[in-house]
Amino acid sequence: MDMPTPNAAILARKSLIATRLRGVLPADAVIIDPAETRAYECDALSAYACAPMVAVLPRTTEEVAAVLRICHEEGVPVVPRGSGTSLAGGALPTADCVILGVARMNAVLETDYDNRFIRVQSGRTNLSVTGAVEADGWFYAPDPSSQLACAIAGNVAMNSGGAHCLKYGVTTNNLLGVTLVQMDGTIVTVGGPWAETAGIDLLGVICGSEGQLGVVTEATLRILPKPEGARPVLVGFDSNEVAGTCVSDIIKAGLLPVAIEFMDRPCIRATEAFAKAGYPDCEALLIIEVEGSDAEIAEQLARIRDIANRHNPVEFREAADEDQAKRIWLGRKSAFGAMGQINDYMCLDGTIPVSSLPYVLRRIGEMSTQFGLDVGNVFHAGDGNLHPLILFNANKPGDLALCEAFGAEILKLCVEVGGCLTGEHGVGIEKRDLMKVQFSGVDLEAQLRVKDVFDPKWLLNPAKVFPLDVTESRRAG
Ligand SMILES: Cc1cc2nc3c(=O)[nH]c(=O)nc-3n(C[C@H](O)[C@H](O)[C@H](O)COP(=O)(O)OP(=O)(O)OC[C@H]3O[C@@H](n4cnc5c(N)ncnc54)[C@H](O)[C@@H]3O)c2cc1C
Repeated sequence: MDMPTPNAAILARKSLIATRLRGVLPADAVIIDPAETRAYECDALSAYACAPMVAVLPRTTEEVAAVLRICHEEGVPVVPRGSGTSLAGGALPTADCVILGVARMNAVLETDYDNRFIRVQSGRTNLSVTGAVEADGWFYAPDPSSQLACAIAGNVAMNSGGAHCLKYGVTTNNLLGVTLVQMDGTIVTVGGPWAETAGIDLLGVICGSEGQLGVVTEATLRILPKPEGARPVLVGFDSNEVAGTCVSDIIKAGLLPVAIEFMDRPCIRATEAFAKAGYPDCEALLIIEVEGSDAEIAEQLARIRDIANRHNPVEFREAADEDQAKRIWLGRKSAFGAMGQINDYMCLDGTIPVSSLPYVLRRIGEMSTQFGLDVGNVFHAGDGNLHPLILFNANKPGDLALCEAFGAEILKLCVEVGGCLTGEHGVGIEKRDLMKVQFSGVDLEAQLRVKDVFDPKWLLNPAKVFPLDVTESRRAG
Protein backbone atom coordinates (compact mmCIF):
# COMPACT_ATOMS: atom_id res chain seq x y z
CA MET A 1 0.00 0.00 0.00
CA ASP A 2 1.52 3.35 -1.03
CA MET A 3 2.09 6.08 1.50
CA PRO A 4 3.04 9.68 0.68
CA THR A 5 6.77 10.35 0.43
CA PRO A 6 8.04 11.88 3.69
CA ASN A 7 8.80 15.55 3.42
CA ALA A 8 12.62 15.73 3.54
CA ALA A 9 12.58 19.42 4.47
CA ILE A 10 10.51 18.67 7.57
CA LEU A 11 12.75 15.77 8.60
CA ALA A 12 15.80 18.05 8.27
CA ARG A 13 14.16 20.35 10.84
CA LYS A 14 13.41 17.53 13.30
CA SER A 15 15.57 18.87 16.11
CA LEU A 16 14.23 22.42 15.69
CA ILE A 17 10.65 21.14 15.84
CA ALA A 18 11.41 18.98 18.89
CA THR A 19 13.00 21.98 20.61
CA ARG A 20 9.91 24.09 19.94
CA LEU A 21 7.66 21.31 21.29
CA ARG A 22 9.82 21.03 24.43
CA GLY A 23 9.18 24.72 24.95
CA VAL A 24 5.45 24.07 25.52
CA LEU A 25 5.43 20.56 27.04
CA PRO A 26 7.19 18.91 30.00
CA ALA A 27 10.41 17.15 28.95
CA ASP A 28 8.95 13.65 29.40
CA ALA A 29 6.11 14.47 27.00
CA VAL A 30 8.28 14.84 23.87
CA ILE A 31 9.74 11.60 22.48
CA ILE A 32 12.34 11.66 19.71
CA ASP A 33 14.59 8.67 20.40
CA PRO A 34 13.94 6.20 17.53
CA ALA A 35 13.99 3.30 20.01
CA GLU A 36 10.99 4.95 21.74
CA THR A 37 9.11 6.39 18.77
CA ARG A 38 8.94 2.82 17.40
CA ALA A 39 6.28 2.14 20.02
CA TYR A 40 3.96 4.30 17.89
CA GLU A 41 4.85 2.84 14.48
CA CYS A 42 1.55 1.04 13.94
CA ASP A 43 -1.89 0.37 15.33
CA ALA A 44 -3.78 -2.93 15.32
CA LEU A 45 -3.48 -3.11 11.51
CA SER A 46 0.08 -4.19 12.15
CA ALA A 47 0.83 -5.21 8.56
CA TYR A 48 1.70 -1.52 8.05
CA ALA A 49 4.27 0.29 10.15
CA CYS A 50 6.22 3.54 10.00
CA ALA A 51 7.86 5.24 12.97
CA PRO A 52 6.86 8.90 13.41
CA MET A 53 9.37 11.76 13.48
CA VAL A 54 8.32 12.77 17.01
CA ALA A 55 5.67 11.58 19.50
CA VAL A 56 4.10 13.93 22.06
CA LEU A 57 2.01 13.00 25.09
CA PRO A 58 0.24 16.14 26.37
CA ARG A 59 -1.88 16.19 29.53
CA THR A 60 -4.27 19.11 28.92
CA THR A 61 -6.32 20.71 26.15
CA GLU A 62 -4.07 23.78 26.34
CA GLU A 63 -0.96 21.63 25.77
CA VAL A 64 -2.65 20.01 22.76
CA ALA A 65 -3.44 23.48 21.40
CA ALA A 66 0.16 24.60 21.86
CA VAL A 67 1.46 21.51 19.99
CA LEU A 68 -0.95 22.03 17.11
CA ARG A 69 -0.10 25.73 16.85
CA ILE A 70 3.60 24.87 16.42
CA CYS A 71 2.93 22.10 13.89
CA HIS A 72 0.61 24.41 11.96
CA GLU A 73 3.28 27.11 11.80
CA GLU A 74 5.99 24.62 10.79
CA GLY A 75 3.77 22.76 8.28
CA VAL A 76 4.23 19.46 10.13
CA PRO A 77 1.59 16.70 9.70
CA VAL A 78 -0.06 15.50 12.92
CA VAL A 79 -1.55 12.06 13.55
CA PRO A 80 -3.86 11.95 16.59
CA ARG A 81 -3.69 8.72 18.57
CA GLY A 82 -5.77 7.22 21.36
CA SER A 83 -4.74 3.69 22.34
CA GLY A 84 -3.69 2.53 18.85
CA THR A 85 -6.27 -0.27 18.52
CA SER A 86 -7.58 0.86 15.13
CA LEU A 87 -8.00 -2.05 12.76
CA ALA A 88 -8.09 0.25 9.74
CA GLY A 89 -4.65 1.83 10.11
CA GLY A 90 -6.30 5.07 11.30
CA ALA A 91 -3.43 5.90 13.68
CA LEU A 92 -0.61 4.85 11.32
CA PRO A 93 2.10 7.56 11.32
CA THR A 94 4.01 9.03 8.41
CA ALA A 95 7.80 9.40 8.78
CA ASP A 96 7.55 13.21 8.88
CA CYS A 97 4.66 13.48 11.34
CA VAL A 98 4.16 14.26 14.99
CA ILE A 99 2.09 11.57 16.71
CA LEU A 100 -0.16 13.30 19.21
CA GLY A 101 -1.13 10.68 21.80
CA VAL A 102 -3.85 11.48 24.33
CA ALA A 103 -3.20 8.44 26.59
CA ARG A 104 -2.15 10.63 29.53
CA MET A 105 -5.38 12.64 29.31
CA ASN A 106 -7.55 10.14 31.17
CA ALA A 107 -9.29 12.05 33.96
CA VAL A 108 -12.99 12.09 34.81
CA LEU A 109 -13.87 15.80 34.83
CA GLU A 110 -17.53 15.75 35.87
CA THR A 111 -20.24 13.21 36.73
CA ASP A 112 -23.86 14.31 36.83
CA TYR A 113 -26.46 11.62 37.57
CA ASP A 114 -29.35 14.12 37.70
CA ASN A 115 -28.71 14.99 34.08
CA ARG A 116 -27.31 11.59 33.08
CA PHE A 117 -23.87 12.51 31.75
CA ILE A 118 -20.18 12.11 32.42
CA ARG A 119 -17.44 14.39 31.06
CA VAL A 120 -14.02 12.82 30.57
CA GLN A 121 -10.67 13.63 29.02
CA SER A 122 -10.54 11.80 25.72
CA GLY A 123 -7.67 9.44 26.56
CA ARG A 124 -9.81 7.63 29.13
CA THR A 125 -10.43 4.03 28.14
CA ASN A 126 -13.94 2.99 27.19
CA LEU A 127 -14.32 0.40 29.96
CA SER A 128 -13.10 2.76 32.65
CA VAL A 129 -15.92 5.19 31.81
CA THR A 130 -18.39 2.57 33.00
CA GLY A 131 -15.90 1.77 35.77
CA ALA A 132 -16.28 5.32 37.08
CA VAL A 133 -20.08 5.10 37.47
CA GLU A 134 -21.04 1.44 37.84
CA ALA A 135 -20.86 1.38 41.64
CA ASP A 136 -23.71 3.92 41.55
CA GLY A 137 -25.77 1.76 39.17
CA TRP A 138 -24.91 3.42 35.84
CA PHE A 139 -23.09 2.45 32.64
CA TYR A 140 -21.82 3.81 29.31
CA ALA A 141 -23.44 1.74 26.55
CA PRO A 142 -21.10 1.52 23.51
CA ASP A 143 -18.89 -1.51 24.18
CA PRO A 144 -16.28 -2.27 21.50
CA SER A 145 -14.64 -5.66 22.06
CA SER A 146 -11.42 -3.69 22.56
CA GLN A 147 -13.03 -1.69 25.40
CA LEU A 148 -10.37 -2.59 27.97
CA ALA A 149 -7.77 -0.76 25.87
CA CYS A 150 -9.39 1.62 23.38
CA ALA A 151 -9.85 5.28 24.29
CA ILE A 152 -12.95 7.45 24.02
CA ALA A 153 -10.87 9.61 21.62
CA GLY A 154 -10.62 6.73 19.14
CA ASN A 155 -14.26 5.76 19.76
CA VAL A 156 -15.40 9.27 18.84
CA ALA A 157 -13.07 9.44 15.82
CA MET A 158 -14.25 6.05 14.50
CA ASN A 159 -17.87 6.27 15.73
CA SER A 160 -17.24 2.91 17.35
CA GLY A 161 -19.87 0.34 18.18
CA GLY A 162 -20.01 -2.96 19.99
CA ALA A 163 -22.11 -5.98 20.81
CA HIS A 164 -24.72 -4.04 22.78
CA CYS A 165 -25.19 -1.28 20.20
CA LEU A 166 -28.13 -3.05 18.57
CA LYS A 167 -30.37 -1.58 21.27
CA TYR A 168 -28.38 1.42 22.52
CA GLY A 169 -26.81 2.73 19.31
CA VAL A 170 -23.17 3.44 18.56
CA THR A 171 -20.93 6.26 19.82
CA THR A 172 -22.75 9.01 17.92
CA ASN A 173 -26.01 8.07 19.70
CA ASN A 174 -24.34 8.38 23.11
CA LEU A 175 -22.10 11.40 22.57
CA LEU A 176 -23.39 14.74 23.80
CA GLY A 177 -20.44 17.07 23.28
CA VAL A 178 -16.72 17.41 22.67
CA THR A 179 -13.88 19.83 23.11
CA LEU A 180 -12.01 19.93 19.82
CA VAL A 181 -8.69 21.58 19.07
CA GLN A 182 -8.37 22.63 15.46
CA MET A 183 -5.11 22.35 13.52
CA ASP A 184 -4.30 26.04 14.07
CA GLY A 185 -4.65 25.59 17.84
CA THR A 186 -8.15 27.07 18.17
CA ILE A 187 -10.12 25.37 20.97
CA VAL A 188 -13.84 24.90 20.29
CA THR A 189 -16.65 23.36 22.33
CA VAL A 190 -19.25 21.50 20.31
CA GLY A 191 -22.49 20.31 21.92
CA GLY A 192 -22.75 19.98 25.66
CA PRO A 193 -24.56 18.00 28.30
CA TRP A 194 -27.96 18.64 26.69
CA ALA A 195 -29.79 16.24 24.41
CA GLU A 196 -30.19 18.91 21.72
CA THR A 197 -27.91 21.75 20.67
CA ALA A 198 -28.61 24.98 18.85
CA GLY A 199 -27.14 25.62 15.42
CA ILE A 200 -25.68 23.24 12.87
CA ASP A 201 -25.09 19.69 14.17
CA LEU A 202 -21.29 19.85 14.06
CA LEU A 203 -21.08 17.04 16.60
CA GLY A 204 -22.47 14.69 13.97
CA VAL A 205 -19.73 15.85 11.59
CA ILE A 206 -16.95 15.39 14.14
CA CYS A 207 -18.07 11.96 15.38
CA GLY A 208 -16.64 9.50 12.87
CA SER A 209 -14.31 12.02 11.21
CA GLU A 210 -11.24 9.81 11.90
CA GLY A 211 -8.94 12.54 13.17
CA GLN A 212 -9.32 14.56 9.96
CA LEU A 213 -10.95 17.65 11.44
CA GLY A 214 -9.29 18.28 14.81
CA VAL A 215 -8.05 16.65 18.01
CA VAL A 216 -10.77 15.69 20.49
CA THR A 217 -9.55 16.37 24.02
CA GLU A 218 -12.74 16.03 26.09
CA ALA A 219 -16.04 14.22 25.60
CA THR A 220 -19.39 14.50 27.32
CA LEU A 221 -21.10 11.10 27.24
CA ARG A 222 -24.63 9.93 28.01
CA ILE A 223 -24.75 7.40 30.84
CA LEU A 224 -27.69 5.07 31.50
CA PRO A 225 -29.06 3.34 34.58
CA LYS A 226 -28.09 -0.34 34.61
CA PRO A 227 -30.97 -2.57 33.47
CA GLU A 228 -32.85 -4.59 36.08
CA GLY A 229 -31.52 -7.83 34.60
CA ALA A 230 -29.97 -9.29 31.46
CA ARG A 231 -29.64 -12.82 30.11
CA PRO A 232 -27.71 -14.17 27.11
CA VAL A 233 -28.61 -17.37 25.28
CA LEU A 234 -26.46 -19.52 22.99
CA VAL A 235 -28.22 -20.84 19.91
CA GLY A 236 -26.29 -23.31 17.71
CA PHE A 237 -27.09 -24.14 14.07
CA ASP A 238 -25.74 -26.55 11.52
CA SER A 239 -25.18 -23.91 8.84
CA ASN A 240 -24.14 -20.26 8.57
CA GLU A 241 -26.98 -19.47 6.25
CA VAL A 242 -29.64 -20.88 8.58
CA ALA A 243 -28.20 -18.86 11.48
CA GLY A 244 -28.28 -15.76 9.24
CA THR A 245 -31.92 -16.41 8.36
CA CYS A 246 -32.78 -16.76 12.04
CA VAL A 247 -31.22 -13.34 12.76
CA SER A 248 -33.19 -11.77 9.97
CA ASP A 249 -36.43 -13.40 11.27
CA ILE A 250 -35.84 -12.10 14.82
CA ILE A 251 -35.42 -8.55 13.52
CA LYS A 252 -38.40 -8.91 11.18
CA ALA A 253 -40.57 -10.00 14.13
CA GLY A 254 -39.97 -6.58 15.72
CA LEU A 255 -37.92 -7.94 18.62
CA LEU A 256 -35.07 -5.75 19.83
CA PRO A 257 -32.58 -7.79 21.87
CA VAL A 258 -29.64 -5.80 23.25
CA ALA A 259 -27.25 -7.93 21.21
CA ILE A 260 -27.25 -10.60 18.49
CA GLU A 261 -23.71 -11.83 17.85
CA PHE A 262 -22.68 -14.44 15.28
CA MET A 263 -19.70 -16.83 15.20
CA ASP A 264 -18.94 -19.52 12.64
CA ARG A 265 -17.12 -22.82 13.17
CA PRO A 266 -13.51 -21.58 12.74
CA CYS A 267 -14.13 -18.84 15.31
CA ILE A 268 -16.03 -21.12 17.70
CA ARG A 269 -13.16 -23.62 17.66
CA ALA A 270 -10.43 -21.02 18.14
CA THR A 271 -12.40 -19.34 20.94
CA GLU A 272 -13.09 -22.60 22.75
CA ALA A 273 -9.40 -23.52 22.69
CA PHE A 274 -8.51 -20.06 24.04
CA ALA A 275 -11.28 -18.99 26.43
CA LYS A 276 -13.05 -22.29 27.25
CA ALA A 277 -16.43 -20.59 27.25
CA GLY A 278 -18.36 -23.86 26.88
CA TYR A 279 -19.63 -23.13 23.37
CA PRO A 280 -21.38 -26.02 21.56
CA ASP A 281 -19.63 -27.79 18.68
CA CYS A 282 -21.65 -26.57 15.70
CA GLU A 283 -21.35 -24.75 12.37
CA ALA A 284 -22.71 -21.40 13.55
CA LEU A 285 -23.56 -19.86 16.88
CA LEU A 286 -25.70 -16.89 17.88
CA ILE A 287 -25.35 -15.13 21.21
CA ILE A 288 -28.57 -13.28 21.85
CA GLU A 289 -28.97 -11.11 24.94
CA VAL A 290 -32.20 -9.61 26.26
CA GLU A 291 -32.75 -7.22 29.14
CA GLY A 292 -35.46 -6.16 31.56
CA SER A 293 -37.37 -7.55 34.54
CA ASP A 294 -37.59 -11.34 34.98
CA ALA A 295 -41.01 -11.34 33.33
CA GLU A 296 -39.80 -9.24 30.38
CA ILE A 297 -36.77 -11.47 29.91
CA ALA A 298 -38.91 -14.62 29.99
CA GLU A 299 -41.37 -13.20 27.47
CA GLN A 300 -38.64 -12.11 25.00
CA LEU A 301 -36.78 -15.41 25.31
CA ALA A 302 -39.95 -17.39 24.67
CA ARG A 303 -40.52 -15.49 21.42
CA ILE A 304 -36.87 -15.92 20.39
CA ARG A 305 -37.04 -19.64 21.15
CA ASP A 306 -40.16 -19.94 18.94
CA ILE A 307 -38.37 -18.27 16.03
CA ALA A 308 -35.17 -20.28 16.55
CA ASN A 309 -37.15 -23.56 16.68
CA ARG A 310 -38.40 -22.91 13.16
CA HIS A 311 -34.75 -23.26 12.05
CA ASN A 312 -33.99 -26.55 13.87
CA PRO A 313 -31.25 -25.31 16.22
CA VAL A 314 -28.80 -27.93 17.44
CA GLU A 315 -28.74 -26.17 20.82
CA PHE A 316 -30.67 -23.44 22.68
CA ARG A 317 -29.01 -22.73 26.02
CA GLU A 318 -29.96 -19.92 28.41
CA ALA A 319 -27.31 -18.68 30.83
CA ALA A 320 -28.44 -20.14 34.17
CA ASP A 321 -26.59 -17.62 36.33
CA GLU A 322 -24.24 -14.63 36.32
CA ASP A 323 -21.14 -16.84 35.95
CA GLN A 324 -22.47 -18.57 32.85
CA ALA A 325 -23.47 -15.22 31.35
CA LYS A 326 -19.95 -13.89 31.92
CA ARG A 327 -18.39 -16.96 30.28
CA ILE A 328 -20.61 -16.61 27.22
CA TRP A 329 -19.46 -12.99 26.77
CA LEU A 330 -15.84 -13.78 27.63
CA GLY A 331 -15.78 -16.16 24.66
CA ARG A 332 -17.18 -13.60 22.25
CA LYS A 333 -14.93 -10.80 23.50
CA SER A 334 -11.86 -13.06 23.19
CA ALA A 335 -12.67 -14.19 19.65
CA PHE A 336 -10.30 -11.83 17.80
CA GLY A 337 -7.42 -12.60 20.17
CA ALA A 338 -8.15 -16.32 19.92
CA MET A 339 -7.98 -16.26 16.12
CA GLY A 340 -4.70 -14.33 16.38
CA GLN A 341 -3.23 -17.19 18.44
CA ILE A 342 -3.62 -19.60 15.53
CA ASN A 343 -3.04 -17.49 12.42
CA ASP A 344 -2.25 -14.10 10.93
CA TYR A 345 -5.53 -12.52 9.94
CA MET A 346 -7.02 -9.38 8.53
CA CYS A 347 -10.25 -8.25 10.19
CA LEU A 348 -12.70 -6.63 7.78
CA ASP A 349 -15.59 -4.42 8.72
CA GLY A 350 -18.58 -3.75 6.51
CA THR A 351 -22.32 -3.34 6.95
CA ILE A 352 -25.15 -4.99 5.06
CA PRO A 353 -28.94 -5.02 5.35
CA VAL A 354 -29.76 -7.78 7.85
CA SER A 355 -32.06 -9.46 5.31
CA SER A 356 -29.10 -10.13 2.99
CA LEU A 357 -27.06 -11.99 5.68
CA PRO A 358 -27.71 -15.51 4.31
CA TYR A 359 -26.77 -14.48 0.74
CA VAL A 360 -23.64 -12.57 1.80
CA LEU A 361 -22.40 -15.38 4.06
CA ARG A 362 -22.80 -17.85 1.19
CA ARG A 363 -20.92 -15.54 -1.20
CA ILE A 364 -18.08 -15.07 1.32
CA GLY A 365 -17.77 -18.87 1.53
CA GLU A 366 -17.58 -19.11 -2.28
CA MET A 367 -14.97 -16.33 -2.46
CA SER A 368 -12.91 -18.10 0.21
CA THR A 369 -12.65 -21.12 -2.11
CA GLN A 370 -11.93 -18.90 -5.10
CA PHE A 371 -9.07 -17.03 -3.35
CA GLY A 372 -7.77 -20.11 -1.55
CA LEU A 373 -7.78 -18.34 1.83
CA ASP A 374 -9.80 -19.46 4.86
CA VAL A 375 -12.14 -17.03 6.52
CA GLY A 376 -13.72 -16.94 9.97
CA ASN A 377 -16.84 -14.88 10.71
CA VAL A 378 -17.57 -13.24 14.04
CA PHE A 379 -19.78 -10.18 14.00
CA HIS A 380 -22.61 -8.02 15.26
CA ALA A 381 -25.34 -9.78 13.30
CA GLY A 382 -28.29 -7.82 14.69
CA ASP A 383 -27.25 -4.64 12.94
CA GLY A 384 -25.67 -6.33 9.92
CA ASN A 385 -22.13 -5.35 10.88
CA LEU A 386 -19.85 -8.02 9.40
CA HIS A 387 -16.31 -8.84 10.55
CA PRO A 388 -14.90 -11.52 8.25
CA LEU A 389 -11.43 -12.53 9.49
CA ILE A 390 -9.35 -13.56 6.47
CA LEU A 391 -6.55 -15.91 7.45
CA PHE A 392 -3.20 -15.53 5.68
CA ASN A 393 0.50 -16.17 6.18
CA ALA A 394 2.38 -12.90 6.71
CA ASN A 395 5.67 -14.66 5.90
CA LYS A 396 4.48 -16.03 2.55
CA PRO A 397 5.26 -13.63 -0.30
CA GLY A 398 2.08 -12.45 -2.01
CA ASP A 399 -0.31 -13.70 0.70
CA LEU A 400 -1.01 -10.24 2.16
CA ALA A 401 -1.79 -8.83 -1.30
CA LEU A 402 -4.10 -11.79 -1.98
CA CYS A 403 -5.78 -11.25 1.38
CA GLU A 404 -6.33 -7.55 0.58
CA ALA A 405 -7.78 -8.40 -2.84
CA PHE A 406 -10.18 -10.86 -1.17
CA GLY A 407 -11.10 -8.25 1.43
CA ALA A 408 -11.80 -5.66 -1.26
CA GLU A 409 -14.19 -8.07 -2.98
CA ILE A 410 -16.09 -8.65 0.27
CA LEU A 411 -16.42 -4.91 0.87
CA LYS A 412 -17.60 -4.35 -2.71
CA LEU A 413 -20.19 -7.06 -2.08
CA CYS A 414 -21.39 -5.13 1.01
CA VAL A 415 -21.93 -2.03 -1.14
CA GLU A 416 -23.55 -4.10 -3.91
CA VAL A 417 -26.27 -5.44 -1.56
CA GLY A 418 -27.06 -1.93 -0.31
CA GLY A 419 -24.67 -1.77 2.63
CA CYS A 420 -21.58 0.23 3.47
CA LEU A 421 -17.77 -0.08 3.32
CA THR A 422 -17.47 0.43 7.05
CA GLY A 423 -19.45 -0.61 10.08
CA GLU A 424 -17.53 0.65 13.06
CA HIS A 425 -13.78 0.42 12.32
CA GLY A 426 -13.64 3.38 9.94
CA VAL A 427 -11.86 3.80 6.62
CA GLY A 428 -8.30 4.65 7.69
CA ILE A 429 -5.75 3.58 5.10
CA GLU A 430 -7.37 0.18 4.74
CA LYS A 431 -10.40 1.25 2.71
CA ARG A 432 -9.45 4.70 1.46
CA ASP A 433 -9.13 3.59 -2.17
CA LEU A 434 -12.47 1.78 -2.02
CA MET A 435 -14.26 5.03 -1.18
CA LYS A 436 -14.80 5.48 -4.93
CA VAL A 437 -16.85 2.26 -4.93
CA GLN A 438 -19.26 3.74 -2.40
CA PHE A 439 -19.28 7.42 -3.35
CA SER A 440 -19.60 9.36 -6.59
CA GLY A 441 -17.10 12.14 -7.34
CA VAL A 442 -19.70 14.71 -6.28
CA ASP A 443 -20.34 12.96 -2.96
CA LEU A 444 -16.62 12.71 -2.24
CA GLU A 445 -16.13 16.37 -3.12
CA ALA A 446 -18.70 17.34 -0.46
CA GLN A 447 -16.62 15.50 2.18
CA LEU A 448 -13.36 17.03 0.90
CA ARG A 449 -14.83 20.52 1.29
CA VAL A 450 -15.61 19.82 4.94
CA LYS A 451 -11.97 18.80 5.42
CA ASP A 452 -10.87 22.01 3.61
CA VAL A 453 -12.79 24.11 6.13
CA PHE A 454 -11.44 22.47 9.29
CA ASP A 455 -7.89 21.79 8.05
CA PRO A 456 -7.11 23.99 5.01
CA LYS A 457 -3.44 22.93 4.92
CA TRP A 458 -4.39 19.22 5.01
CA LEU A 459 -1.97 18.51 7.86
CA LEU A 460 -4.20 16.34 10.06
CA ASN A 461 -3.93 12.56 9.75
CA PRO A 462 -2.59 12.53 6.18
CA ALA A 463 -3.28 9.85 3.58
CA LYS A 464 -6.30 8.40 5.36
CA VAL A 465 -10.02 8.16 4.58
CA PHE A 466 -9.86 9.72 1.09
CA PRO A 467 -8.38 7.93 -1.97
CA LEU A 468 -4.64 8.67 -2.11
CA ASP A 469 -4.75 10.34 -5.55
CA VAL A 470 -7.50 12.68 -4.34
CA THR A 471 -5.55 13.59 -1.18
CA GLU A 472 -2.34 14.19 -3.14
CA SER A 473 -3.98 16.53 -5.62
CA ARG A 474 -5.80 18.40 -2.83
CA ARG A 475 -2.55 18.90 -0.86
CA ALA A 476 -0.68 19.98 -3.98
CA GLY A 477 -3.41 22.36 -5.12
C1 LIG B 1 -9.31 -6.91 19.36
C2 LIG B 1 -10.03 -5.71 18.83
C3 LIG B 1 -11.42 -5.67 18.89
C4 LIG B 1 -12.09 -4.56 18.38
N1 LIG B 1 -13.46 -4.52 18.50
C5 LIG B 1 -14.13 -3.43 18.08
C6 LIG B 1 -15.55 -3.36 18.22
O1 LIG B 1 -16.21 -4.26 18.72
N2 LIG B 1 -16.15 -2.23 17.78
C7 LIG B 1 -15.45 -1.20 17.22
O2 LIG B 1 -16.06 -0.21 16.84
N3 LIG B 1 -14.12 -1.24 17.08
C8 LIG B 1 -13.43 -2.33 17.49
N4 LIG B 1 -12.07 -2.38 17.35
C9 LIG B 1 -11.36 -1.26 16.68
C10 LIG B 1 -10.83 -0.16 17.62
O3 LIG B 1 -10.69 -0.64 18.93
C11 LIG B 1 -11.76 1.07 17.58
O4 LIG B 1 -11.70 1.68 16.31
C12 LIG B 1 -11.40 2.10 18.65
O5 LIG B 1 -12.37 3.10 18.73
C13 LIG B 1 -10.04 2.77 18.43
O6 LIG B 1 -9.74 3.49 19.60
P1 LIG B 1 -8.23 3.89 19.95
O7 LIG B 1 -8.27 4.74 21.15
O8 LIG B 1 -7.39 2.69 20.03
O9 LIG B 1 -7.89 4.78 18.68
P2 LIG B 1 -6.59 4.77 17.77
O10 LIG B 1 -6.39 3.43 17.16
O11 LIG B 1 -5.47 5.36 18.50
O12 LIG B 1 -7.05 5.79 16.64
C14 LIG B 1 -8.18 5.50 15.85
C15 LIG B 1 -8.51 6.74 14.99
O13 LIG B 1 -8.91 7.79 15.84
C16 LIG B 1 -8.13 8.94 15.60
N5 LIG B 1 -7.94 9.60 16.89
C17 LIG B 1 -7.38 9.08 17.99
N6 LIG B 1 -7.38 9.97 18.98
C18 LIG B 1 -7.98 11.08 18.50
C19 LIG B 1 -8.27 12.34 19.06
N7 LIG B 1 -7.95 12.65 20.31
N8 LIG B 1 -8.88 13.25 18.28
C20 LIG B 1 -9.21 12.97 16.99
N9 LIG B 1 -8.95 11.79 16.42
C21 LIG B 1 -8.34 10.85 17.16
C22 LIG B 1 -6.83 8.41 15.02
O14 LIG B 1 -6.15 9.38 14.26
C23 LIG B 1 -7.34 7.25 14.19
O15 LIG B 1 -7.81 7.72 12.95
C24 LIG B 1 -11.37 -3.47 17.81
C25 LIG B 1 -9.97 -3.52 17.77
C26 LIG B 1 -9.31 -4.63 18.26
C27 LIG B 1 -7.81 -4.64 18.19
